[in-house]
Amino acid sequence: MTDNAPKESRYAHQLKRRFPTLRFASKLESEYRSEHLATIRNRVIASLLVALTFVLWHVFVTRTGSFGDTVPPLADNLRAWVMRPVAVVLLVSALLRNFYARHWLTVAPVLLAILGSVGAFNVAMLVANGNVHAFISMLTGFFGVYMLMGLLFWQLVAVGSVLTLVFVANLVYAGAPIDVIQAEAPIMFTATALACVFIYSLEHSQRTAFLQRKVLEEIGNHDALTQLKNRRAFDEALTMLWQQGIREGKPVGLLLLDVDHFKPYNDHYGHQAGDRCLAAIGTVLRCVTTRPFDIAARIGGEEFAVLFYDCTHEHLVATGERLVLGVQGLGIEHERSPVAGELTASVGGVLVQPQTERSSRSLLQFADEALYTAKNRGRNRVVIERDGYENIVTGAFRGTQIQKRIVR
Ligand code: GH3
Ligand code: MG
Ligand code: MG
Repeated sequence: MTDNAPKESRYAHQLKRRFPTLRFASKLESEYRSEHLATIRNRVIASLLVALTFVLWHVFVTRTGSFGDTVPPLADNLRAWVMRPVAVVLLVSALLRNFYARHWLTVAPVLLAILGSVGAFNVAMLVANGNVHAFISMLTGFFGVYMLMGLLFWQLVAVGSVLTLVFVANLVYAGAPIDVIQAEAPIMFTATALACVFIYSLEHSQRTAFLQRKVLEEIGNHDALTQLKNRRAFDEALTMLWQQGIREGKPVGLLLLDVDHFKPYNDHYGHQAGDRCLAAIGTVLRCVTTRPFDIAARIGGEEFAVLFYDCTHEHLVATGERLVLGVQGLGIEHERSPVAGELTASVGGVLVQPQTERSSRSLLQFADEALYTAKNRGRNRVVIERDGYENIVTGAFRGTQIQKRIVR
């Protein structure tokens, strides 16, 4: 594969490679995690609010704590001074949008492990004293930790193991009868293991759906013949860069390329040969889009565009020339061309400072004028237009001379 050959989508590549350990390549992994976090945030907040209601019920209504009068003072103190504050910090972490987006997957497993361990420690103590409510209450709490807090599978394995071990160890330490340990330890192990199995399969399907959705999005934004962006993606990028140019006071450049005498080429060599030419021209465009914001697209049958953000006039001229030379340099014979023995293309380019009173359509129209001039001057050349932008009516939101004038 050469440098300018279309690259396989990283999403499709990851789908093909599979991910049995539930981890993507690093950049994709953070993309997946951000999307995962955004999706589950409402669920996390709702679950924490429900849990908070449960706590408030016991603080203000039953007053005795969740487990009646049998609570040892240590358990009561741990609940008041560790569990409740940690739960509040957890809720605040979820409510602070930016903090949540950046740190939830680091903070939540740690806080949930603390919260759950103290809970398990307390409950083991109570269970050892014969309090059955405590065990049921703990399982309900663990259901929340395991299923609703959005932990990734491996985090759940770690947190689940800690909680289970703390619970069983403290059952033994608190002197629970052997039959109680034999009955409740396996319930804890099984509940944790089942949660892990469930979360593995859920996360695996969510990751698969994420990759499939991204692949579909890419297909919807790409031109199958040339692997460049298609018109839809180009329009979106143009609008986005135009707005950015207004905000940052940076110019936007556009080159439009149209194949010369392509109709006679198709008529003479056939449509399939024409398609191969278009694919080859796609590689020429990919060669010139080297900066991060450069966008090459096929915007019509045999029409292409390259968008540049914050480039210089010299860069636009040089790139336009590279495009014209590049297409002729493909050496595709074109007997019917009055311009040259090979297939050629004309390029029109403009560089404009985006303004709020003009839309990005004006840039397209202006570049189209330049392309038209290149065609009129004999084709197989680049024309970069510098003057006349104020005369373009398309994409003008106001302006007196602009109102009803039709250009060309
Ligand atoms: P000019 O130099 O003025 O641009 O002449 P032209 O013949 O290239 O322009 P015209 O607009 O008359 O013809 C464009 C041709 O492009 C018509 C059509 O046969 C061809 N074309 C458009 N889309 C495709 C495509 O997807 N595949 C192929 N093979 N040909 C296409
Ligand atoms: Mg055309
Ligand atoms: Mg043409």
